[in-house]
Amino acid sequence: MRRHSRFLAPVVLLAVTACGGGVHGTPGAAGLRDPYFPRLGNGGYDVSHYALDLAYDPDRHRLTGTADITATARKDLSAFDLDLQGLTVRDVTVDGEPAVASRAAHELTVRPHDELPDGSTFRTTVRYFGEPVTITDPDGSEEGWLRTADGALGLGEPTGSMAWFPGNHHPSDKATYDITLTVPQGLQAVSNGELTSERTTSDGRRTTTVWHVPQPMASYVATVAIGKFDIRRGETDSGLPILTAVDPYETEASAKVLARLPEVVDWETETFGAYPFSSTGAIVDREGDAGYALETQNRPVFPGGPDLGTLVHEMAHQWYGDSVTPKSWRDMWLNEGFATYAEWLWDEEHGGDTAQQAFDAQYARPAGADVWAFPPADPPSAAHISDTPVYVRGAMVLQKIRQTIGGAKFLTLLRSWASDHKYGNAGTDDFTAYVEQRNPGKEQALAGVWKDWLRGDGKPDSP
Ligand SMILES: [Zn+2]
Repeated sequence: MRRHSRFLAPVVLLAVTACGGGVHGTPGAAGLRDPYFPRLGNGGYDVSHYALDLAYDPDRHRLTGTADITATARKDLSAFDLDLQGLTVRDVTVDGEPAVASRAAHELTVRPHDELPDGSTFRTTVRYFGEPVTITDPDGSEEGWLRTADGALGLGEPTGSMAWFPGNHHPSDKATYDITLTVPQGLQAVSNGELTSERTTSDGRRTTTVWHVPQPMASYVATVAIGKFDIRRGETDSGLPILTAVDPYETEASAKVLARLPEVVDWETETFGAYPFSSTGAIVDREGDAGYALETQNRPVFPGGPDLGTLVHEMAHQWYGDSVTPKSWRDMWLNEGFATYAEWLWDEEHGGDTAQQAFDAQYARPAGADVWAFPPADPPSAAHISDTPVYVRGAMVLQKIRQTIGGAKFLTLLRSWASDHKYGNAGTDDFTAYVEQRNPGKEQALAGVWKDWLRGDGKPDSP
């Protein structure tokens, strides 16, 4: 994401779970105890694959969906929860058998006909419909299902994906996806991953596209963009496929910057290591359709043609955020600090200020400036996860590491952190231990960086 604060306060919920006759398992937890969103995600199972079949009619603002969710039980389960906000559930089956479903706030509790033994893989099918909701964060920014001038945009950070499909909506449970989208003839639908088929429905009135996401994806970087788009394909110099979808109103504003997308991705590949996904690209909707850019997997979403810095930032998230994903929303600085640092490094290597100059300019800000409001590893509440310290002071932490271990080792660190945690999850403690292990003799100096820059309150005494 680029410089917008967009987080939802925790919702108080009623847990609705009960044991069926003859069932020995217990219900899965209704949340994963995220420090900022304790009820987000669900316990007792891991999802490995989502097959989503969605039809949307912008004129009627009606979404009809079927979600096939393949998961593995992590304990003997009598019941489990999925996160779903709004919409009406038509029915739920587990392994083909009708299941009992009940709802409270964003928890959809499913009680399968038969107990699910620990370690078993099971398939849950949820059929649902209705008017998908937009979730407005405390700061006024919006996510979930956004109606646009000519369609809709599904955006998910941090809680919005539950507005368009049921799932385990916490970044720690990543899965592969197949996303099938049916929209009225004349409109296009774009999602993550690879476009594997496109056909017109038998009545000739609708178009169906199928998108395959073969690498694990956190649900908050899943996206759907529906509307009129100029869709173009190409590839980078290194042969990576590109698919861009640009609202015709934005073609002129984005042509120049999108022409540099291959160069940006190839530079980031040289700098951060192998590109983690099977394609890249961008979705440019109309300015005002969303209040921010978001690093949706494979192809980030931009509200209007982005500037070059924003393009560099969102593409860097493909490594830091999308491939290496935070364990919890407290680890957000591992996304935003790295993406901000990518902008500094781009400038440094393209004739602009060095990262040290960018750091110095920030350090010159007075003690009362927003950048010193709180330590990047410990935002005071969910409403502040996207504030300046997470981005800028997060990047300053990286520059302090560079000062401490040296430039060559620092560049190696950027690459190995991404490759060693590829497709996984990592938290702040994982990161600090990783840096220390790879830099013997520097532990004490690094401990000072963590204390003053990563975890300490206020402006550090010296740069
Ligand atoms: Zn970002």
